[in-house]
Amino acid sequence: MSLTKKTYKICAIGSADGNFTAVLEFINSLQEKHHFDFVICIGDFITKSKSDSNAVSDLISGKLKVSVPIYFSVGSEELPEEILNVVQGKTPDVCGNLICLPSIGSIKLTEGLKIMSACGIYTEDEPQDLNNTKCIPEYSPTLDASRLSSLKGECDILFSNEWPPNIQNNSKLSLIEAPAGCTPLETLLKSCRPKYHFVPSKVYYEREPFDANSSESSNRYTRFIGLASFKNKDKQKFAYAFSVQLPDEPSSPPLNTTVSPFAPQMLKRAADSLVKSTSEGDNAAQDLAVNQQQRKQKKPRIGPESCFLCLSNPAAAYHLIVAIGTESYMALPKGPLSTTVTNENKMQFPGHVLIIPLAHVATLSELDEEAYQKTIGEMNKFKDSVKKMFKSFGLEAVIFEVNKKQGVHLLWQVVPIPSSKVPLLMPAFEKQSAEARFSFQKRDVRPKEYNYFRAILPNGEVLVKPLKFRERFDLQFGRRVLANVLEIPDRVDWRQCSQTVDEEKKDAEDFKEAFKPYNFTLE
Ligand SMILES: [Zn+2]
Repeated sequence: MSLTKKTYKICAIGSADGNFTAVLEFINSLQEKHHFDFVICIGDFITKSKSDSNAVSDLISGKLKVSVPIYFSVGSEELPEEILNVVQGKTPDVCGNLICLPSIGSIKLTEGLKIMSACGIYTEDEPQDLNNTKCIPEYSPTLDASRLSSLKGECDILFSNEWPPNIQNNSKLSLIEAPAGCTPLETLLKSCRPKYHFVPSKVYYEREPFDANSSESSNRYTRFIGLASFKNKDKQKFAYAFSVQLPDEPSSPPLNTTVSPFAPQMLKRAADSLVKSTSEGDNAAQDLAVNQQQRKQKKPRIGPESCFLCLSNPAAAYHLIVAIGTESYMALPKGPLSTTVTNENKMQFPGHVLIIPLAHVATLSELDEEAYQKTIGEMNKFKDSVKKMFKSFGLEAVIFEVNKKQGVHLLWQVVPIPSSKVPLLMPAFEKQSAEARFSFQKRDVRPKEYNYFRAILPNGEVLVKPLKFRERFDLQFGRRVLANVLEIPDRVDWRQCSQTVDEEKKDAEDFKEAFKPYNFTLE
């Protein structure tokens, strides 16, 4: 490696979805102002099915202007045969300045910067027989895990078509819907420890930096960036300019660095808190559900013996229980969202309460018909009783739940809200769902429906967002919306709202006392 310092100015561009001529024009105009050292085009830059074949011929014959070196590879689709004819076995240069890296390959620039490509689609099945296509393995759109091991050493920039698994683990950012991810890329990230890793994404996503392999002696921080497609209709960010300096200099971790997404710490902590601690609550159970989901449930599901919401678990937080029925019970949450202030001092305790089935079920659909009817009936009765109690204080109630088959133990959250805030609820839910790129269905859930988020507003309006199997959904969504409406953004994270056990006991006593006239379990 050269000892002279070199700072590369680089730009990464999201998938062209085959429309490479538009991307070239964009890059050429960008280059006039920015003078990048090179550009990386991820995803499907040129494809057999989507790219214009005349344009491909023009490109190869040098008729199209390429004003800066561009590196690209195979995305999810095959390259046009003409491109394959040029690159296979000869040179990766399609034409001057345009370099096509193999789906699994690397290139080291003269001053030492190293780019790796680990592209193509990954399947856990045997790679398809490619003999009947002109597609040679080096440029096939399949991410062949056995060939990944040929990528040796560290690199500065990695780009892939697939995502690594669990990349959102240990991140503090809101969850986005992300592809399931492929495990071989985790292994690769740990060995090549790129400074930048680019993947195609539906929405723009930049994770906090992390050290993919902190067992190595030197620190290296990876910035993982999902770029939306070139000029996508949702106007998501698709171009990312950055710089890389060589040779590497020891540096302190970037400010927002997190534990590696591949480190088990968070999962372990959540599991520990369920088994050992007596001061974690419902949200810990939900956090665990996230981690479980992100780990594709390779770990067995949490059983009643270590479930915090199961009263058979001696570690359950009994002092938070405010009412027990025959099929369900109510308990205060750890770190309630509402406060006496948000209650406009009409109710001198937080009031935020959970309605929980006694059975260890993630959705009521797991119960047999009789138990289902009894449980949903009693949970609704609790809900209506709490609403009446809130009303007696001049307050309204919002109820929300995340109902997922892969969850741990179902719970409904009931949060008091002042009447003056009620008109803000629907717009807030709609705004924040739009920001999270989904829209609500205005209907109630069907009997035994599962896999959904539901919010019930004070006027009885119901918002439902069905969740797909393993769909990533922000488990704090309901809390986030209400925190906005109540203008208490600092209380979104329940951990920021923790109370002493004495405070919790007092709130439980106050709740029980106020709830007495409505507590049908005492009848
Ligand atoms: Zn349970």
